[in-house]
Amino acid sequence: MINMRPIYLDASFQKALQKFHKKLPQECYETTDCEWSLFKKAFLKFSKYKCPICEDRVRRYDDIDHFRPKEEALYPFLKCCYQNYIVMCSECNRFYKKSNFPLLNPTQKATSVVELKNEKPLLVNPMHDDIFELFQLEFIVSNKNNKKMLVVAPKDGIDDESRQKAQATIELYGIGNCDDNDKIDDCRIDLLENHYDQFIELAKRAKKYFEDKTERNRVLLGKKIKEKPSLEKYGFVEFIKKGQFKIAI
Ligand SMILES: [Zn+2]
Repeated sequence: MINMRPIYLDASFQKALQKFHKKLPQECYETTDCEWSLFKKAFLKFSKYKCPICEDRVRRYDDIDHFRPKEEALYPFLKCCYQNYIVMCSECNRFYKKSNFPLLNPTQKATSVVELKNEKPLLVNPMHDDIFELFQLEFIVSNKNNKKMLVVAPKDGIDDESRQKAQATIELYGIGNCDDNDKIDDCRIDLLENHYDQFIELAKRAKKYFEDKTERNRVLLGKKIKEKPSLEKYGFVEFIKKGQFKIAI
């Protein structure tokens, strides 16, 4: 998972935003003439062509998703609001999230922009939420299929509401908790196995550093990160650098 919050300070994103405001001087919820394509390049550049949810590759032709679905019965008033856009791989967008938007209290669903502040989505948005406050990584062997996987899990010690939000996000996208629910078929085993293979050596080295923070271990961790520059593209690396991971093997 990739922390997308700094994108609002990114020069390419700011440029897209200027163009957006020039084309749509009115409030975004007062128009149906969307300009989402203006942001696509900035999104892809910032995420290094990775999906911020599952970290699979995002392709140029993949969609920009509406975090709150734009369907008539859901949030049509946010159809053209850039704050509601997020780049995602088509797998996450079309096969997992679709038009789902779970709420802690479904009776508090917003019907206007003003009411949004009362809503509590059970879905994490890496564009706005602090993912490091909600998640940790876990290197596991699944009890069900004996496969080694890198899964996303709710961070230890968070409050119940945050836990529910993190858990609902994980289940909706099939990116973790494969043993504890009945959604094993929806868990993205191939993807999570691939993540495991890529990151386990780095995580083992990081574990040594966090257990014994000597200069030598710090240098060895830095060396390990430099060995595979392609890993730097992943948001997972930030979790590992922060020590927000567990190796349960
Ligand atoms: Zn994805």
